[in-house]
Amino acid sequence: MGFFDCISSDPPIEIFRLTELFNNDKNPSKVNLGAGVYQDENGKMSTLSVVRAVEQSMAQDLTLDKSYLKPIGQDSFCQACLELVLGKQSSSIIENRACSIQGLSGTGCLTIGLKFLYRNGYKIGYISSPTWSNHGSILQSIGFDVKQYRYWNKDKLNLDIDGLLQDLQDAPENSVIILHACSHNPTGCDPTHEQWQQISDVIKQRKLFPFFDFAYHGFSSGDLDQDAWSIRYFADHQKHELLVAQSFAKNFSLYNERIGHLMGIFSSTDIIPKFRSQLTTIIRQIYSNPPVHGARIVATILNNPTLCLQWKDNVRAMYERIQSMRQLLYTKLKQLGTPGNWDHIITQHGMFAFTGLNSRQCQILVQQHHIYLMNDGRINICGITQNNVDQVSKSFYDVVT
Ligand code: PMP
Repeated sequence: MGFFDCISSDPPIEIFRLTELFNNDKNPSKVNLGAGVYQDENGKMSTLSVVRAVEQSMAQDLTLDKSYLKPIGQDSFCQACLELVLGKQSSSIIENRACSIQGLSGTGCLTIGLKFLYRNGYKIGYISSPTWSNHGSILQSIGFDVKQYRYWNKDKLNLDIDGLLQDLQDAPENSVIILHACSHNPTGCDPTHEQWQQISDVIKQRKLFPFFDFAYHGFSSGDLDQDAWSIRYFADHQKHELLVAQSFAKNFSLYNERIGHLMGIFSSTDIIPKFRSQLTTIIRQIYSNPPVHGARIVATILNNPTLCLQWKDNVRAMYERIQSMRQLLYTKLKQLGTPGNWDHIITQHGMFAFTGLNSRQCQILVQQHHIYLMNDGRINICGITQNNVDQVSKSFYDVVT
């Protein structure tokens, strides 16, 4: 009898299972609209040209060593991140109330940020319904009582702003509210500026704590300043205290480098050394200190105006490809006379479209059409190309008729 004879397996994680099914499918016309990874017009995931150039020069630089970073990461990286998110003129930066910590991509930064909040007395976490499936799971694993606020109106295929505001109004004080700063996953549906203002008002009035998940900076509008609007409004305009977990997986295409940062904005500068000290402890206990490669790439690019412009062009190009594929899919669905209103395909933002297809239709698409998408109807628009759009739209037509 072994120690582990009685253990059971966990339920499969949908996105990994879907990717495995796709990889095992031998059909040459299979299409992957699952995992949120950017693919180019040939359906390939490639390294950004600016990243490739920086890596080549790093390889020649003999001064770069592999020594440990401190737990909270590399300073030049962290400072550049603050300015990227808030803008150089930010009052939170000028007043020295903002601080960034290097972390393990979006997931790692959400985790250390939530651990910081939990150990300081925050025990209730609200997530949007629906949301990225890891939000609830991370909150739960830390010990939070997980609750949901309404987000998606599935009849009107848009934001349920009244439900959202009501649920925040009813939330107990000191609840942590996870917000998607832009390109909401999975719905692709972001609040307007006016709606953000309403959300900010309720959060302030009800003494709730905003925690922004910023995984798709640049993918909502193609413009990095515009996509940071919600955070800048909360931080600099409305003077909220808040956290932001930013991932550089998508906008630098650095998925497997696990690079991101956790930003805290506080009411006074005195909090910053305490925040850094608590995060040092939290990180030390989990992984001690972060990897350096991704931080060097991002810091080199953000701190060099020429490289930074090239990167912004790279982000803009990814955004534009996504927009053109949205338009193409929409046009094809309309040309086929596909029943239903497909306007949301072109009005939603970011990498994903929330198609409105039901789980039965999604299963038929996977099993009979070799088109792989999440069971809630979310598709990664980047998986669409000129070569497969006819097949995708015809298959959508088939499952809804
Ligand atoms: N938040 C959201 C909403 C996401 O969609 C993702 C990636 N799928 C992440 C955070 C984190 O991703 P990563 O840990 O790869 O940066």
